Amino acid sequence: MRYALWLISLLLAGILIAACQSPKAPVIFEEKMMVMGTVVSVTIAGEEDKLSNKAFHDLLTDFKYMQAAWNPWKKGSLARVNQLLPMGPAFTIGPGIKDILERSRILAQKSDGLFNPAIGKLVKLWGFHQDEMPEGPPPSDAQIQKLLTSGLTLDALTVEGLSLVSRNPDITLDFGGFAKGYAVDKAIEHLQRLGIKNAIVNAGGDLRAIGSKGDKPWVIGIRNPRTEGIIASLRIKGDESVFTSGDYERFYDYKGNRYHHILDPRTGYPANETRSVTVVHGDAATADAAATALFVAGPKRWEEIAKKMAVSEVMLIDKAGKILISAALNARITFLDRKNLDITVSRLVHE
Ligand code: ADP
Ligand code: MG
Repeated sequence: MRYALWLISLLLAGILIAACQSPKAPVIFEEKMMVMGTVVSVTIAGEEDKLSNKAFHDLLTDFKYMQAAWNPWKKGSLARVNQLLPMGPAFTIGPGIKDILERSRILAQKSDGLFNPAIGKLVKLWGFHQDEMPEGPPPSDAQIQKLLTSGLTLDALTVEGLSLVSRNPDITLDFGGFAKGYAVDKAIEHLQRLGIKNAIVNAGGDLRAIGSKGDKPWVIGIRNPRTEGIIASLRIKGDESVFTSGDYERFYDYKGNRYHHILDPRTGYPANETRSVTVVHGDAATADAAATALFVAGPKRWEEIAKKMAVSEVMLIDKAGKILISAALNARITFLDRKNLDITVSRLVHE
């Protein structure tokens, strides 16, 4: 009798545990790697460990390849292009470089030149071309103007087949404003090819998520540009990318002024009206380029450029901490402390 009671209570406990672990809770795989100057984490839901591990190691190889290929200054495909560009004659480029160049050209045009991957020399002049943080001093105005007058745009580059020629020896390519997004898209495409439907590839807080976490959506945090924590959270709908550009990522202080790494291609100086811009969009390359372009556009022009780039979910925090947000994003974002924030909602014309 005592044995039967013991058995029944054991069975009941088993049923209770089974009820608590909802049958839909998926297995979560999460691993991190250090690539492209940041921590990239790969999260996969509901797959066998063997497949997730294979996927992770594939992505590790791919990311290492991309980081070497697209570095403007260190030995690799893009560094070679940058060495040959000022020499004059046409030369042959690899199909990978052609693809990323053509993609960046479309995004640059749509951004009205505010996202401009032809400003490599300007980035270098400010010291943001190296892994180490520069200490200053900032470049002289004369140095900046000299570079700007030559007209740093991709229009000076002609691609025919795999042949590239530049009409301006001052042009050096720097895909830093969207390479992370472009790489994250490639990573997600690879996961999809492996049959993985539910995953997040997160590169230092910028991410693309597909599918869901079992029967729940992925929920992600958006970083507060002035504190360690997050300012808001967002439930991901199916397949979306969330990218933020901020003045806190890479900067140096020199004689009381802060100089950061997002440059206004029109003035040659760090764009100074914005603290951060977050863009939510389908593909990561567009989201990344748009975050950089809208950062430069600032509080006065962000709506116009968002429209041109066909992004509708945007949040801009200006230099005073005021939040400007599109109605489409405002409708679905959850701020941690909405009542203490200064928020202006804007209905983008194209929404
Ligand atoms: P992060 O990579 O830190 O998230 P961004 O995506 O905004 O930030 O990229 C900034 C990088 O892009 C800079 O370090 C520089 O290499 C490059 N860059 C700076 N200004 C521009 C610009 N106006 N257009 C395109 N690329 C830029
Ligand atoms: Mg960017």
